[in-house]
Amino acid sequence: MSPDCCFVRESSQKDSVLCPYCGEKGKPVSLATVGAMANTEVEAVKLSAQEYNFCRNRGCPVVYYAGEVQLEKSDLRVPVNFKERNYEGPVCYCFNHTVASIRAEIQMKGHSTAQAMITQEVKARRCACEIKNPAGICCLGDITRVVQAVMAQLKHRTEALEQNNCS
Ligand SMILES: [Zn+2]
Repeated sequence: MSPDCCFVRESSQKDSVLCPYCGEKGKPVSLATVGAMANTEVEAVKLSAQEYNFCRNRGCPVVYYAGEVQLEKSDLRVPVNFKERNYEGPVCYCFNHTVASIRAEIQMKGHSTAQAMITQEVKARRCACEIKNPAGICCLGDITRVVQAVMAQLKHRTEALEQNNCS
């Protein structure tokens, strides 16, 4: 019950730094990721902070932040999958699986091989998520969400078509 223990607990919660733009809870991201993602136009001062967090809020333009320092979507080399609406671009930045390529495969084969392929490449240590994915982590979670969304979309469309045919 000493004040010391409370202090320790407080500082160990530094993970949840709020985005200064939208106020949502961010996630820590490594310096390597921020450095690799920043385009050549970004001023050096924006890259001089020691601890960055990233904001996943789709409606918020800020991607990385460290106090006063903020990097927006336009400061990055790649389109950020979790910041765009109606997005067709890369979801797996290491092996270039895009929303469009995942949809095309599902339309052709009825399923996606992206997850299995990525899992295999990760095992072979050929991925480089820390410097290629703007989230700095493995894309499999995002890929799974995209596959599920596309499957649901296509199923919906097929059902709508079938209903039209019957009428
Ligand atoms: Zn934000």
